[in-house]
Amino acid sequence: MPTAELSLNLATVRKQWTLREAVAGAARHGFAGIAPWRDMVQEAGPAEAGRVVRDSGLRVTGYCRGGLFPAADAAGRQASVDDNKRMIDEAAEIGAECIVIIGGGLPKGSRDLPAARKMFAEGLAAVLPHARAAKIPLALEPMHPMYAADRGCITTIAEMTDLCDALGDGLGLAVDTYHVWWDPNLARELARAGKRIISHHICDWLVPTRHMLNDRGMMGDGVIDFKAIRRMIEAAGYTGIQEVEIFSEDWWARPGDEVLRVAMERFRAVC
Ligand code: ZN
Repeated sequence: MPTAELSLNLATVRKQWTLREAVAGAARHGFAGIAPWRDMVQEAGPAEAGRVVRDSGLRVTGYCRGGLFPAADAAGRQASVDDNKRMIDEAAEIGAECIVIIGGGLPKGSRDLPAARKMFAEGLAAVLPHARAAKIPLALEPMHPMYAADRGCITTIAEMTDLCDALGDGLGLAVDTYHVWWDPNLARELARAGKRIISHHICDWLVPTRHMLNDRGMMGDGVIDFKAIRRMIEAAGYTGIQEVEIFSEDWWARPGDEVLRVAMERFRAVC
């Protein structure tokens, strides 16, 4: 059953464990994959990180995170393109199945959100040949609109699907429940995205949400209907692995083994 598979986005246990400890924990708790963040990979070194993961037999369902192309000047935009190319090389070295790409925020002092979105599209076009050559798909992740100013100027599945259509091969979508659950056009846009969906992240929306970044919820603790969204995603054509990704001071304060045990229980019960 494809729906029985869960990957661990390592941000979920970033304060408890190193890369090596997190990979061992994921294997111990029956996860089928992991998705590391760049700081953890660079701390271990990409070659060593690749060895650790290969030895574990786990999939690397994603590498977080690239994109963030908007910048105040041409030099800044070029630096971001160059950095994304390096990240693609690292992704190849650790055997990642895709890189998660987010929009980036407004350049300092800017009030021009359309310009930021245009810079994102241009940056994406600039790195795409490198990604295609490395055979690393770029999974475009729309972010919740509350991040439009500082992290994710692209906020809807519709916009990311348009970019896939405009730029062609080598792109796909990362659908994260936390970022898209509110979308009134969710069913329609997931159906339209169809086979472009290559990654499915899960995380709940807590009421109240006390912090914009670090108060994300364990599945079942908030208001998201995971099974309903999964049905839409499977109907669209993606039946692959799900990836739990929770940024939470609450869960970071608990032992890693407890977090993974609960995540696996909730995944089986409510996702
Ligand atoms: Zn995500």
